[in-house]
Amino acid sequence: MEPHSLDFKEAAKRALADTELQKSLSSFKAGFSLKRLEAIQKLPEFEGLRDEGIAIKQHTLAHLDFYLGRFAEKVEAAGGTVHWCPTPDDGRRAILEILRTHGAKTATKSKSMVAEELGLNEFLEANDIEPVETDLGEYIIQLAHERPSHILAPAVHKTKEQVSDLFFEHHKTRHLTEASDMVAEARQFLRPRYLAAGAGITGANFLVAETGSIVLVTNEGNAELTQILPKVHIVLATVEKVVPTLEDAATLLRLLARSATGQEFGTYTTLATGPKQIGDQDGPEAFHVILLDNGRSKILGGEFSEVLRCIKCAACMNHCPVYSVVGGHAYGWVYPGPIGAALAPNLIGLEEARHLPNASTFCGRCEAVCPMRIPLPKLMRQWREQEHEKKLSPPRFRLGLDAWAYLAKRPALYALATKLGIGALSIFGGAGRFAALPLASGWTATRDFPAPEGPTFRTAWKKARG
Ligand code: SF4
Repeated sequence: MEPHSLDFKEAAKRALADTELQKSLSSFKAGFSLKRLEAIQKLPEFEGLRDEGIAIKQHTLAHLDFYLGRFAEKVEAAGGTVHWCPTPDDGRRAILEILRTHGAKTATKSKSMVAEELGLNEFLEANDIEPVETDLGEYIIQLAHERPSHILAPAVHKTKEQVSDLFFEHHKTRHLTEASDMVAEARQFLRPRYLAAGAGITGANFLVAETGSIVLVTNEGNAELTQILPKVHIVLATVEKVVPTLEDAATLLRLLARSATGQEFGTYTTLATGPKQIGDQDGPEAFHVILLDNGRSKILGGEFSEVLRCIKCAACMNHCPVYSVVGGHAYGWVYPGPIGAALAPNLIGLEEARHLPNASTFCGRCEAVCPMRIPLPKLMRQWREQEHEKKLSPPRFRLGLDAWAYLAKRPALYALATKLGIGALSIFGGAGRFAALPLASGWTATRDFPAPEGPTFRTAWKKARG
């Protein structure tokens, strides 16, 4: 059964009890964040680069219609076609029509989160077109019939042993133990598929308005084969991916690589502009860009608009203490981690995604590492406020918050209530901790609650100030 955002709590519990998943997540935790730290320490102008990147995105978002229009003109001048798709349905229809027009029965795919938003693989299969994932992580999860659990490393939840079993089951060769052998085997199976594909489907990291180019970053080179070898290249992109100039794209690429994988630049950074031109030795004969909105234009100018600055680097989830123990599948939607929690309610509705903004400790690491300085905790808090106002949270929880708000607005009453409460807890918490507490079973079910010690903060503060 597909995961669902409303199942977050249950899915998180299952994830915590899954020893194989915990094994995979523990090896992933340090990797990305350490590499990012080393990379930015080597770049003294990193903070200045962040300012530049934010200014580029803010300017573009303020003139989004203009830059999208210019991008579309340039794509068409280069011989390509832009398909404006307000909804996922429009996107799926446009893709199917292109594939049918060109008689494509199989389509190679490089990693694209927009394809996940469209549920593209299931849709293509239902229409007798075989999607073939070519990114190694995506290939693994396609074999496992799963969804990506991370926006950069889709199979990060799998252990090496699980991948070995999966390859053995599907490739029918031998059980491999070395990761390099698994990579070689996947390559051997994928090579002929590139050559036989009727179309290649890729994502795009940026769309450049001044040239009509798409910019694609990978570390495997699979996107290059996907876009060059078949007769048709279909690009999937959401509207906020556009940037004004090539120079702007270069600035954002420097931020992206460092924030994502700790590299100075992605191993393969490719620009593609339209289909093959006269004199070109290779390239697709047709070039289509599926430009998906899916609710993003409604976010523009509103209280959640900063979320559109996201360049999908994944740094926020790589540093999130919640993501790092529950993994991506628990979130039950395309984009996991803090960015998913801030974005999902915009796109699928707060009712559907209401648990996600609560899946945060508000430690603030996501905002601190985000190259676009998106105030993710603030955005999640805004969603929590809406959840409270719309009465979507459980009545007991709302009652508790309302009671606290009532007291917090009345300092004298608040002081009395905390004094009495702390006094009672101090008397009963003789052992320094509580193994069980009424109304706090969610906490005490898995850990002890510390008993208060010494004076309250207010008393200590008063004393310290004389
Ligand atoms: S919110 Fe920031 S850190 Fe997270 S993926 Fe987007 S740009 Fe990266």
